[in-house]
Amino acid sequence: MTMPDASPDETPVRLGVVVEAPQHSGLVGMLDYLHAVPLPPGTLVRVPLGRRMVTGVVWSALQPTAEAQLLAAESLKAVAEVLDGLPALPSVWRQLVNFAAAYYQRGLGEMALMVLPPELRQLDAVQLQRRLKRLDKTLASDATTGAPATQHAPPDAPQALLPALSAQQASALAALAVGGARPYLLWGSTGSGKTEVYLRRAQDALDAGQQVLMMVPEINLTPQLEARVAERFAGRRIVSLHSGLTPAQRLRNWVMALQGQADLVLGTRLSVFTPLPRLGLIVVDEEHDPSYKQQDGARYSARDLAVYRAHLEKVPVILGSATPSLESWHNALPVAEGGAGRYVRLDMPERIGGGDMPRVRLLDQNHVLKATMGQEPPPLSRPLLDAIAQRVERGEQSLVLLNRRGYAPVLHCSDCGWKSGCPHCSAWRVFHKADRTLRCHHCGFSERVPRACPDCGNQDIQPVGRGTERLEEQLAAALPGARVGRIDADVTKHKGALEAQLASMHAGEVDVLVGTQMVAKGHDFRRITLVAAVNPDAALFASDFRAAERQFALLLQAAGRAGRDADVAGRSEMWVQTWHATHPLYQALQRYDFAAFATRQLQERQMAGMPPYASLAMLRAEGKTQEAAQGFLAAAATAVQDLVARTPEAAGLMLYPAVPTPVQRVANIERAQLMIECGQRAVLQRFLSEAQAVWLAQAQQHRRSGLIRWAVDVDPLAI
Ligand code: ADP
Ligand code: ZN
Ligand code: ZN
Repeated sequence: MTMPDASPDETPVRLGVVVEAPQHSGLVGMLDYLHAVPLPPGTLVRVPLGRRMVTGVVWSALQPTAEAQLLAAESLKAVAEVLDGLPALPSVWRQLVNFAAAYYQRGLGEMALMVLPPELRQLDAVQLQRRLKRLDKTLASDATTGAPATQHAPPDAPQALLPALSAQQASALAALAVGGARPYLLWGSTGSGKTEVYLRRAQDALDAGQQVLMMVPEINLTPQLEARVAERFAGRRIVSLHSGLTPAQRLRNWVMALQGQADLVLGTRLSVFTPLPRLGLIVVDEEHDPSYKQQDGARYSARDLAVYRAHLEKVPVILGSATPSLESWHNALPVAEGGAGRYVRLDMPERIGGGDMPRVRLLDQNHVLKATMGQEPPPLSRPLLDAIAQRVERGEQSLVLLNRRGYAPVLHCSDCGWKSGCPHCSAWRVFHKADRTLRCHHCGFSERVPRACPDCGNQDIQPVGRGTERLEEQLAAALPGARVGRIDADVTKHKGALEAQLASMHAGEVDVLVGTQMVAKGHDFRRITLVAAVNPDAALFASDFRAAERQFALLLQAAGRAGRDADVAGRSEMWVQTWHATHPLYQALQRYDFAAFATRQLQERQMAGMPPYASLAMLRAEGKTQEAAQGFLAAAATAVQDLVARTPEAAGLMLYPAVPTPVQRVANIERAQLMIECGQRAVLQRFLSEAQAVWLAQAQQHRRSGLIRWAVDVDPLAI
């Protein structure tokens, strides 16, 4: 037995330690180790695993080792060192991780270690001590230089000047004050002052000596919120947690949260797991945003986990949105209205200052087609161009939304029919004119654009369709003298480019901004009086049942960028260039009637047996061939037939056939999926956890036939 620390008169204890072990290795991730003295659960330790030394978390209650167990423990290894510079992780943190691992069908060890700062997993006790000492020193010098005060001390800095609350803000806050620790859905128009409500409620929590967790979908797009929070709570310690931080910053901020030194954590989805010993409030801004769902590895929903965590910690959670997810909407509908009645809904329909949302104009392309005597309408119809030109003349700004980047989605040879496909994916390569490349948006494969058709030599290969680059070019050509800018992922991959582009927008140096969904979110532009969506129809016919919901949210959010100043609100407009002007989605948008849209969508979901009326899981597989991927899924379905048969019939558990994913090949890997549907969440959960064991064994056999990876995605967003 290797127990260097054991003193002879002490009985060594046997501890369950959670270490990183990916699910598919077959390990849950909890291993037993020996230690001389008991350690409280949540303690971070370094333990030997195979030939490596890894970080782990003490999990199970300590058991003094009985003699019989000691014999069995002969082969057990000892804890190498205790990272005792840090407090043990709180028990609610462990409960949250336990729940997340079970619910999302991942190994406990994988889940627990994944949600710790990556740097923490690398450090031994000495290195960690050094870091902590350095942190203490900075915090101490902050305190003497008048920067953020120490915890609990009331802020010395003068209170920021608070705006008088609007009536609806006041009543939302009053409801929050009396409602206590429950989930709330704050349903408020863009510009209705939701953020102000978060900040006021956060102030109360901070004043009570509590910590606040505030989550946003994409922190890089919301520097404004960070600034606003910092300004409001000057004198408090605000830390951010997102993947854009350096590993050292992330560790430092996480440690400050765990040690109770940080008062407010502003973070993306990963921050839902931040240990906060004094947690008093959780806010999930733009709760409908798909970024809250992790799309690989442990595919958790940070929004849903936030609700669960709030329940565990008995604190209120505020989910805010102008266009809530239909799941949250359903949860906030009273039972009498067919909802689940789980959340309290707080409505803020009016914008601050009484400014109206922009008037929605549906520009029917069929009419335009008639007007142009049957000729293809130009990419931007005349009335829309005129409306933009008018804004330019008045010194107002326009935002033109097109959710597709690049110059054109495909190049085409009209002589031989060649198209710019990706050799590695079942997708077209996009033509990017700026750097003259053909680039695959799925695998990244990129080549210089050919001068002539690679198949027949024809020199005249044509771009088909239009992306943001081309739209920018077309607008600049059609509006001589106008300053046209663009924001999309291609522009913003250069560091500082997004900030620069946003700054020139705010400074009024851009007349027309072309952008993808990136510009629709959150930005507080003051001079926009026209927003146009030029190609929004695709979502109406997408196979994903959530496409309409997402499109409605995007268009409404985009509309919210216009008329944010009361003096321009009256003449602000949202233009939608469509071939389907009578579609219910656009009709509801025109009236800003989210409730009507949601009601209709929910009816469709109920009839189709889709969430929130049923629970889904997706069994996903990747293989060297499509047969390998589908073969595994088909075998997986067969192998659990008796498990399915054992579930109560009323629960309606159903496995659909295996099918290729919408883009079936990416980077030469074939992908397939199998949908699992069930009317009762608990039944689905039980089934999945039993099926996992079967599938693990199954997968081993299928490796030889070309299966590469597989995973269960619970509550999948992409169908
Ligand atoms: P939302 O988050 O709902 O889009 P914000 O909280 O960002 O709305 O508010 C929109 C704008 O109105 C912001 O510039 C904010 O500073 C301002 N604002 C919010 N509440 C008030 C208020 N009660 N009085 C005056 N201005 C307010
Ligand atoms: Zn050709
Ligand atoms: Zn590709």
